[in-house]
Amino acid sequence: MGNKLKIRCPVCKKKTFWEGNPYRPFCSKECKLADLYNWLSEDYRIKIFKEELKNERFKNGSKL
Ligand SMILES: [Zn+2]
Repeated sequence: MGNKLKIRCPVCKKKTFWEGNPYRPFCSKECKLADLYNWLSEDYRIKIFKEELKNERFKNGSKL
């Protein structure tokens, strides 16, 4: 009682428990998936951004 480690879900900021929580550090499956999705889409965006930079450099390079 009162000995359980309390954590805050990084997605919805709701308080949840660490022990016995299969979705830790998230409060629920939904939050775990939401975080994974955010992470993946961010990674994807960075890749696209780098590709664009490469193309941009190539375009500029041909002008010089
Ligand atoms: Zn949550």
